[in-house]
Amino acid sequence: MNESESFNEQTLDESTMTSFDHLIINANIATFSAHYGFDLYENEDPDSVPYGQLENAAIGIKNGKIAWIGVQEQIVTHLPHYQKNQITDVDGKWITPGLIDCHTHIVYGGNRSNEFEARLQGASYQDIAAQGGGIVATVSATREASIESLFTQSEKRLVALMKEGVTSIEIKSGYGLDLDTERKMLTVARQLGEKYDIHVSTTYLAAHALPPEYKSHMQNRADDYIEQVCEWLPILHAEGLVDAVDGFCENIAFSSDQIRRVFEVARSLDLPVKLHSEQLSDIGGSALVAEYKGLSSDHLEHLSEEDIAKMAASNTVAVILPGAFYTLRDTKLPPIEALRTHRVPMAISTDCNPGTSPLTSLLLTMNMGCTLFYLTPEEVLAGSTVYAAQALGLPNKGKIEVGCDADLALWDIARPADLAYQMGLNPIQGIMVQGQWREAI
Ligand SMILES: [Zn+2]
Repeated sequence: MNESESFNEQTLDESTMTSFDHLIINANIATFSAHYGFDLYENEDPDSVPYGQLENAAIGIKNGKIAWIGVQEQIVTHLPHYQKNQITDVDGKWITPGLIDCHTHIVYGGNRSNEFEARLQGASYQDIAAQGGGIVATVSATREASIESLFTQSEKRLVALMKEGVTSIEIKSGYGLDLDTERKMLTVARQLGEKYDIHVSTTYLAAHALPPEYKSHMQNRADDYIEQVCEWLPILHAEGLVDAVDGFCENIAFSSDQIRRVFEVARSLDLPVKLHSEQLSDIGGSALVAEYKGLSSDHLEHLSEEDIAKMAASNTVAVILPGAFYTLRDTKLPPIEALRTHRVPMAISTDCNPGTSPLTSLLLTMNMGCTLFYLTPEEVLAGSTVYAAQALGLPNKGKIEVGCDADLALWDIARPADLAYQMGLNPIQGIMVQGQWREAI
């Protein structure tokens, strides 16, 4: 398919061309849509178009959805039918889908900069743990916080992400590790979505760590805790708080057999699963996710080629998290080339969390993905849009094509690669959510 053919498909009759709620004109568009030639894995194909990009194009929006996409000339004769405030002339700037951060822990109490400082002054992880630091510190602060305080502490992080064009976000629980605090975290996540008019996908992550009350010198009651995790899930799901289920499958957390028990409950509730897998070792997390046809498997530094093939067969997204790799000064790279070879879609995300990735910039994450993991700018942008949407099970987001939600970001850039190239410069010019421009960015 070439660009002019795809445009011709979009020529509509006069009454339709004059019926849009809003028009964006004079735009360059990175669509990330296969309709416009986007295909990361077919670079040799003469019909593939980087970023699925369209130049000198226009978008018609109706009822919060993208209703038409075409070349500028196709809309010019219809412009007199529209009021001035129905037309946004972007003067050659770039439009991308609204960005999607598909793996975050932005709802938490407290902060661990004291540990960051202590470590740089020579304290070991063991020293810090012995003083009640690490994830236990975040669990305590999150349990102690009122719902209002937890909201106020968390919204700053959400706003920072939104200012860079994020229009959909995933937020996990996992610092409560008891029923009431897991509920509090997921409630705050829902409240953030309502206040800021941003799509929030909530994820139940009670299987994140063993809570302190289940640990002692004498015994490790991980199986007992997993039983609780399995009991709480239907309760919180019935309250409308859970969109997906996650766990931490690792030697220092839970075994794949323990995670399987949680996944069985998720399956009985028809909830999709995902997993923190192969960050520090390979104990079979991604194979388990693939078996349950999960949405995504995340981290993956120690992922084997055998399990990559399983992910490809189950259409599971590989979520790559360079912020944690950077913060931990990890040296083991995720198997990017094998993921490419097997055509596993790759998403990237901030993994914003207080311990291993205190990162609230998806643009900087893109740069890290390129610099640390040798991803291309097209891959990291696709990983923050179309494949991030797939990782959240949102087929109508993350790309610009007819029928998709009109969640868009407008950028003052020369070309899409600028978004991954710059560090610390935010070229956002406008954010549209469900067909409405945000008044303030
Ligand atoms: Zn995480």
